[in-house]
Amino acid sequence: MSTTNLDGLNDAQREAVLYLDGPCLVLAGAGSGKTSVITRKIAYLINTCGYEAKGVVALTFTNKAAREMAERIKTLIDRKLMKGLIISTFHSLGVRFLREEAAHAGLKPQFSILDANDTYGIVQEMLATTDKGRIRMVQQKISLWKNDLVSPDMAERLAQTPDEVDAALVYRSYDATLKAYQSVDFDDLVRLPAQLMMQNAEVRERWQKRVKYLLVDEYQDTNVCQYEWVKQLTGFRNMFTAVGDDDQAIYAWRGATIENLAKLTKDYKSLKLIKLEQNYRSVETVLNAANQVISKNPNLFGKKLWSNLGRGEPIQVISMDNEEAEAESVGMRISASRFERNAQWKDYAVLYRGNHQARIIEQTFRQLRIPYTISGGQSFFDKAEVRDVLSYLRLIANEEDDPAFIRAVTTPRRGVGQATLTALGEHAVEKKCSLFDAVFEEGLEDKIANRQLEPMRVFAKFIQTIQWRASKGKADPVQAVQPAPADVLLDDILKYMNYEHYLYETQEERTAENRWLNVLELVDWLKRKAQEDGLNLMQLVQHIALITMLERSEEDEEPDAVKLTTIHASKGLEYPYVHMVGVEEGLLPHMGKDDEYGDANKDAEALDVRIQEERRLMYVGITRAQFHLTLTWCKKRRRAREDLIREPSRFIGEMGLDSGKQQLQDPYQGMSPKERLVKLKEMLQKKTGTTEA
Ligand code: ATP
Ligand code: MG
Repeated sequence: MSTTNLDGLNDAQREAVLYLDGPCLVLAGAGSGKTSVITRKIAYLINTCGYEAKGVVALTFTNKAAREMAERIKTLIDRKLMKGLIISTFHSLGVRFLREEAAHAGLKPQFSILDANDTYGIVQEMLATTDKGRIRMVQQKISLWKNDLVSPDMAERLAQTPDEVDAALVYRSYDATLKAYQSVDFDDLVRLPAQLMMQNAEVRERWQKRVKYLLVDEYQDTNVCQYEWVKQLTGFRNMFTAVGDDDQAIYAWRGATIENLAKLTKDYKSLKLIKLEQNYRSVETVLNAANQVISKNPNLFGKKLWSNLGRGEPIQVISMDNEEAEAESVGMRISASRFERNAQWKDYAVLYRGNHQARIIEQTFRQLRIPYTISGGQSFFDKAEVRDVLSYLRLIANEEDDPAFIRAVTTPRRGVGQATLTALGEHAVEKKCSLFDAVFEEGLEDKIANRQLEPMRVFAKFIQTIQWRASKGKADPVQAVQPAPADVLLDDILKYMNYEHYLYETQEERTAENRWLNVLELVDWLKRKAQEDGLNLMQLVQHIALITMLERSEEDEEPDAVKLTTIHASKGLEYPYVHMVGVEEGLLPHMGKDDEYGDANKDAEALDVRIQEERRLMYVGITRAQFHLTLTWCKKRRRAREDLIREPSRFIGEMGLDSGKQQLQDPYQGMSPKERLVKLKEMLQKKTGTTEA
């Protein structure tokens, strides 16, 4: 086994896998095999060095990356040896950590995890405003503070602008509210474990003993909090391998800091630095263009990157009249190319800067009958119908989850009106308990008439019944009552909700049907998950909040479909043929409105920092392509009912390419959609002699 761990690796990769004398940092450009090094090193540790899987932890940036890594490892390690191996995101590890250490964090093990939608509601309530921009600003400020390990006290001291002062005040009560709800937000999933390990010796020792070797992918996008947590987890042992690429740091806006790379070299005197220089992903045309763009950024570590995959086809740059023409052109090109190359749909990806660009592409692809999947966009779990059903599950898992209580009792309405809820809220404050518990607290009859109280009690009792049926611990030993399986309970909940009826009653028929299908899909998926992983309803629900932040569609077998994705969400992945759309000044590099980016558009230095991050994003996008890259940009783009005149992105010039501004390069240019289809069909006919398209 020991040799297969190293098979095919180059010298530098091999060195990185074998190095066990202390902390190790692999710093290298895109496609040089950093993620591969992590995978192989896990196999090496377990197969050859006798590490127990449960002492090895690998942290990835997305859940998808974690799943892919686990798949790879299955081919390298005996299944039996894999038991206990942790491959997860920082956030998933945070959930696991906090469930186990809940008591030390002042939480119940059943705490709820609130996502951005839930916390939006809380911040909104505190600000008593409907100004979305202001709510988001405060949400983001709080998030950045948490990621920087800044407490409410510190935030108040640090706050300078009126906005910051505002946000700091909300931060304090926001944290108190979360605590009262027995809830945490996503940032807490990393912040609380880091803090707990810093402050509590018992917890620190337990985890340091447990984690014998730590591996971290995409290290350049860690934030202060994650840095600290890694430091705590590796403790005195200092056994870890981090891999990263400073040129691919694209999450500064979320509090990530490239300085973490430099800080590592300072904090760990014995850090072994390994560079990889061979790129195994992209042909030369693609790699050279990527290298040229990124060379315009200041370079911290001096990296070179070469490939021996051949020259490859030239990169295409195409200018289009507007975004509709652009979407059609991309669709047509993919159809034609798939045919010419005898490729599959899934060999193609369309990359864009902002989610809003996906809509026109989706619509066009539907028209052209091109199968696609979308990631990095609105998650399935953000759909209202999905959230409605999940609110029941959240409440069942944690009856102190007030936002879930309100959502569940009001959608569909269980005969409980707003005035009743307000009275209940007051009662809960008085009794210092959750809304759910307040239903049973003495004195409520004085505030709410029986006629209104009754339906609320019926609802609360239903939740209790499900809780009772779902929980193992409370099973009656005398009658040997078994906890009911998750699928039975899920069916009962759906029946009680009467959700299908509600949909058809409140929505237009087609919308209702679509939404109901989403609900069925959700329930099916939950049942499958429960069965596959042997989870009961409670355990199942505990995973849910986390799952809400994933691109779930990728969980199942990869369908044969074109990938539509933001550049951010494509990080770490690779596709044979890539189309990048909207490569225009203002979009890529993105230049938001003044109010979105504060002073960045006025202050030259701040602007430069922004452009550098956009350039790294461009670098990430280009380097996803293995064999061919096409860039498109539009001369006009519609924004808020206005046609804006656009210029090709400066990055096209920086790649050493002609923007195609003067020429008409698109053979479909100027044709109507129908004419385009005819042209494509003609082309196909020429090839095959059939009329099928
Ligand atoms: P990114 O910076 O985009 O995350 P990376 O450095 O993590 O890229 P990988 O994804 O690990 O790179 O590898 C890129 C491609 O090169 C993958 O298809 C991988 O299988 C392949 N690869 C890596 N190392 C080798 C090798 N020694 N021989 C052949 N192929 C390799
Ligand atoms: Mg990688």
